[in-house]
Amino acid sequence: MKNVIFIAPPAAGKGTISDYLIKNYHYKHLSTGDILREEIQSGSKFGKEIENIMASGNLISDDVMINLIKQKLTELSKQSFILDGFPRTLIQAESLDEMLISMGVTNNVVISLDIDRELALKRVLGRINCPKCGRSYNVYFENMKPSKENICDDCNSDLIKRSDDNEESFRKRFDDYLSNVSLIKSYYEEKHLLKNIIVDNDLERVLKEIIKEAKND
Ligand code: ATP
Ligand code: MG
Repeated sequence: MKNVIFIAPPAAGKGTISDYLIKNYHYKHLSTGDILREEIQSGSKFGKEIENIMASGNLISDDVMINLIKQKLTELSKQSFILDGFPRTLIQAESLDEMLISMGVTNNVVISLDIDRELALKRVLGRINCPKCGRSYNVYFENMKPSKENICDDCNSDLIKRSDDNEESFRKRFDDYLSNVSLIKSYYEEKHLLKNIIVDNDLERVLKEIIKEAKND
């Protein structure tokens, strides 16, 4: 399978799609959002520096993110990987290219997920997560509710809301995405790496299309 690099606005489903790919195709998942949230939870100095920036929906600086991803990529073995949350700016995309070239990693596909803004907002406002296993639920969609209100089906923990899953932070995140996405897309289009997939609530179709693009043949 190819390495998958996601370009997507908030709540497009990167996490859910990644979970499926990990289970069925043994990918290694590199989610910058998850990595940063773990730093905050651990109470590290770095975590304290980024906590407010993230809660308000702002981007962490390119320098910081580039160094972080560089480190994570060097820790990878030969396993195929999913990049979820990086690159988010053209500068990040250009740096990623340098990193992958210097590592000799060439088997990549960039998948852009397009989702309607109103649907993304609804998903963000209804989303609750398990702090222990990371599973995400949604109170606005029948098939995504936990069986017991606010309790994780898998590990019985109380579910929590992400501090940036509110309307104000969503606006900031979605607007940042819109202002960066066309440059990133043209960059990858020129390299013939870009595939566009439209996201709605038909997860099965979305997964099918992604698997088709990620297969090597
Ligand atoms: P999703 O809903 O699919 O989880 P998201 O965009 O809401 O996507 P994350 O990818 O989890 O959320 O990222 C959350 C926050 O982490 C961002 O709003 C930003 O503050 C920070 N962040 C994550 N990746 C980057 C990055 N590559 N560059 C800058 N900031 C980042
Ligand atoms: Mg995510």
